[in-house]
Amino acid sequence: MTAMDSSGELPEVRLKDLRAGLPPVHVLGRVVTVSRKEITGKSDGRRHAVLSGLLSDGTATVRFTWWDPPAEGVDRGTVLRAVNAQVREFRERPELSFGWSTRIQPASDLELPALRADDLPLRGVADLHPPAEGFRLEVRVVDVMERTVTVGQERRVVHSGRLADGTGSIPFTSWIDFRLKPGNTVRIVGGYVRSFRGAPEVTLDERSHLEGIAPDLVPPTPAPATPRLSLGELESRGGGPEVEVGGLVVALGSPSGVVHLCPTCGRVLQEGICRHHGALEGVPDLRIRLHLDDGTGVATVNLSRNLAEKLAGRTLDQFLDRLKRQPDPSLNEQQLRQQLVGRRLRVRGRARVDEFGLALYPSACDEVTVPPDPAVDLLAARLTERVG
Ligand SMILES: [Zn+2]
Repeated sequence: MTAMDSSGELPEVRLKDLRAGLPPVHVLGRVVTVSRKEITGKSDGRRHAVLSGLLSDGTATVRFTWWDPPAEGVDRGTVLRAVNAQVREFRERPELSFGWSTRIQPASDLELPALRADDLPLRGVADLHPPAEGFRLEVRVVDVMERTVTVGQERRVVHSGRLADGTGSIPFTSWIDFRLKPGNTVRIVGGYVRSFRGAPEVTLDERSHLEGIAPDLVPPTPAPATPRLSLGELESRGGGPEVEVGGLVVALGSPSGVVHLCPTCGRVLQEGICRHHGALEGVPDLRIRLHLDDGTGVATVNLSRNLAEKLAGRTLDQFLDRLKRQPDPSLNEQQLRQQLVGRRLRVRGRARVDEFGLALYPSACDEVTVPPDPAVDLLAARLTERVG
């Protein structure tokens, strides 16, 4: 790179102000991505090295092409000052071209423009995709936690969590402790978006600026839409982290009723024995396992104590009490079967497919009273006959 006097005659132009058709410009920016390739020149038939990538000054990110760059290339993260760069247009977006007449020198972070919140467009978190930059966010901190990561040889503390606004929520990682607390409402400038495990994430660092704002400036976040699927469709998808299904209870599975859990590992004891810890005194708990059918498929629904108590309309203590009076567990089970088979349920939660088929682990389970489907009604009628 050639050293030059940075007090060149051309004034600096912010990347957000680049327009095709401008005369050669003077820009400053950080290399966000860069890759090198060799192409054959049309006029001389010689091989030329070309660097291309993205340059950002915090107000915008633009593509650049650098013809015949220095042999050592340029590292990602380097801040460059380029005088006499050409502005081209590609797919209606401005791009920079550094050619033989462009003078380029390294610059420092401190020379990058100070970001003013009002200059930057307000964006909703649901509309952020990498490598977005040069935006303003007005968000609520949903949660935040501190963890230590190793970067090269160095241990660093990062703060990560989720930010939300009226459009949705997005994970964030901050390399600086901004002392964020859940529920804080903040205006953020100088963040950028990268992809982490395939999903967009907001990254905050030394160049980010945060200020507290009034809570009413951040609209409430809509609840994420839960996909409503048929059981057949859900099974062919292999389950999902949060789904909603409906159907009819066609049978009661085992275990249903009072179970005893190993106090060490929490597994359900089989005849007083834990597979891992042997014979022991278990802790009483309640489970209901149902088979749900919607005409397209069948699922096993595993209800934990809270949902089982709610659906059965009886508490664990009431179940235990009955067992004390009539020490035959099949009576409880029979009562549950009569009570539940034929009922139409709406279930929300996690679903997976294992060797026994589709299994649901609900976070919510409600009885549905609206008759949705004549085929299911017919099934209900048949089942009720069989049970009754
Ligand atoms: Zn155990």
